[in-house]
Amino acid sequence: MKLVSDYFGCMVFDDSVMQERLSPEIYESLKRTIKHGRSLNLSVANAVATAMKEWAVSLGATHYTHWFQPLTGITAEKHDSFISPADGGKIIMEFSGKELVKGETDASSFPSGGLRATFEARGYTAWDATSYAFIKDGVLCIPTAFCSYGGDALDQKTPLLRSMEALNRQALRVLKLFGNEEVTSVKTTVGPEQEYFLVDKDVFKQRKDLIYTGRTLFGAPPPKGQELESHYYGVIEPRVQAFMNDLNEELWKLGVLAKTEHNEAAPAQHELAPIFTTTNIAADHNQLTMEIMQKIAKKHDMVCLLHEKPFDGVNGSGKHNNWSISTNLGANLLEPGDTPQTNAQFLLFLCAVLKAVDDYQDLLRISVATAGNDRRLGAHEAPPAVVSIFLGAELTEILESIEKDEPYGTKETELLRVGVHTLPKFPKDTTDRNRTSPFAFTGNKFEFRMLGSSASVSGPNTVINTAVAEILRQFADELEKASDFESALHDLIRRIVTEHKRIIFNGNGYDDAWLAEAKKRGLTNLATTPDALPHFIDEKNVALFTTHKVYTEREMHSRLEIQLGSYCQLINIEAKTMVDMAKKEILPAVSEYTQLLSSTILSKKSVCESLDCTYEKETLTEICGLTAEAHKQVKALEKALNGTRKIMDTATLSVYYKDKVLPVMAKLRTAADKLENLVSTEYWPIPTYGDLLFEI
Ligand code: ADP
Ligand code: MG
Repeated sequence: MKLVSDYFGCMVFDDSVMQERLSPEIYESLKRTIKHGRSLNLSVANAVATAMKEWAVSLGATHYTHWFQPLTGITAEKHDSFISPADGGKIIMEFSGKELVKGETDASSFPSGGLRATFEARGYTAWDATSYAFIKDGVLCIPTAFCSYGGDALDQKTPLLRSMEALNRQALRVLKLFGNEEVTSVKTTVGPEQEYFLVDKDVFKQRKDLIYTGRTLFGAPPPKGQELESHYYGVIEPRVQAFMNDLNEELWKLGVLAKTEHNEAAPAQHELAPIFTTTNIAADHNQLTMEIMQKIAKKHDMVCLLHEKPFDGVNGSGKHNNWSISTNLGANLLEPGDTPQTNAQFLLFLCAVLKAVDDYQDLLRISVATAGNDRRLGAHEAPPAVVSIFLGAELTEILESIEKDEPYGTKETELLRVGVHTLPKFPKDTTDRNRTSPFAFTGNKFEFRMLGSSASVSGPNTVINTAVAEILRQFADELEKASDFESALHDLIRRIVTEHKRIIFNGNGYDDAWLAEAKKRGLTNLATTPDALPHFIDEKNVALFTTHKVYTEREMHSRLEIQLGSYCQLINIEAKTMVDMAKKEILPAVSEYTQLLSSTILSKKSVCESLDCTYEKETLTEICGLTAEAHKQVKALEKALNGTRKIMDTATLSVYYKDKVLPVMAKLRTAADKLENLVSTEYWPIPTYGDLLFEI
């Protein structure tokens, strides 16, 4: 029997391997780079590269790659072998410090949103020494950042690292004010809970929509959906369990802290949650998790669907992003704590998050805006497109008493003054669970729940980190100037609660009444991706990101262009796939079936005029009507797609797709789904929802 503790991280060039394989001086030098972000000098890089190669080769690796996250949403790798010719027709295995630290790649085929002129094809990858190298499928993978020849970030990781640095700078200033002189660095931590569906590979292969778009574009609801809630936390099927076991093993070898696995609400839906870790590593690990889920599923003759809404009428998949901030001494800054001093500090960090989320609601919404996620957000199964914070009853009450300068709880005669010495103990377990809030405080962390299942967690965390860094900057500016820290702190917290309490909502976020209430409170409601994305470059947002050097204005424009572009491309592919399936599969099958019905009527009549043909005739009539409707919508969809050619501006095009293409797709689907319910199973050309959801 293999013990997990024996093989955990065996494919990772982690701290213990470094210690074992590097000389003490080289090890110290590398540690300094990792800790303080200093650049490596070439002789150290050479020594590390040699050790890494020897380690990798000893585990069967033949190639290495700079592993990066371009703006395609997935990871990229280009394998180079270690071989180098030697005397006598032999080879030796080589890997230099230069190859480790920096790579050159043709960037011209990755999205750049206009950042790169076509003649500037060059791009660079640079080692992120804070994320360990690892071996995957015989390839040594070196996590890297990816930028253009001109130095613009072309990936997810670079801005994420910059945002962590921004938050580190500002949080340290605030901590100093509370007398935390020993803390030298502050990092954000993330634990992303990943939802996914598993479907049978043979069934999958028969659906062009799943193959091309990752979601079903047609499909009538099966007689049984998720209404009995029999799947959530249910017993895991042996075939799925075998998949999960393999998945865990593979992830553990790669040092991914896979922890919790269970069945989700929808049939065929599951979840995997890791133990949280430093944000950029969590982001790398989540990409690996998604990739390996797909690989292992194939091995088990299944396909793992990561789309946000693979099935209409059935819950979609999200990725809950648990987020907190902790110091190098291991203190979680969002832990309420039980001494007044840490409480006051906690309250200030809590207020920073409140204000950050309120001031940058639009950016949080934008950070999760994709065509796929639009189908999920606000569909009474996922948070609405309106951002709000759940704090729980007790914390909310504490904030209210601070705001009103009123007594809190049992200390009836005492006013609740926030000072480093005067704040009462917080009750334990201050929050109940709330599953409908987009941004929920869950005891010692926030859970941002709007993320779609397929997207990288980097974008949303870049926004959270930078927004909180900005508010901490404002707080530090104000408090550093104060002559009386305690009063200034008290006034600041009171003011923040008063000004930003509108963002707190502890009720049911799935309720329509909340949308009306949110409107009254003046909260932003950017319902769809084309509504949301253009606000990315609003003046206040450009100011935020450029102040903290997370994005340049050029980078922001390029990202906007890329995201709008992928929205359009995705819907374009979906629409074309629908036309294709309708014309080549669904309508021909329906037509054939009508022939069967017609000839049945004719043959019945030929036997005896008076034989009853009500069933055939009524069905035929209904089918013919729906066929005509479906055909009409196919034509309309083709016309709508033609209309896209005239539009040059991507923002306008995205609105066109939303307003002119999506509604026709919906009409075509409605007609086709009604047909599915009328046509004999034998004639229906594609597997049904029943086949997809209940096959495993
Ligand atoms: P719940 O079930 O209430 O959501 P869990 O303890 O199961 O809470 O945690 C859910 C996820 O949150 C896990 O991935 C966990 O590792 C992560 N998490 C816990 N603490 C933190 C933290 N301080 N920072 C980031 N993520 C955290
Ligand atoms: Mg959770």
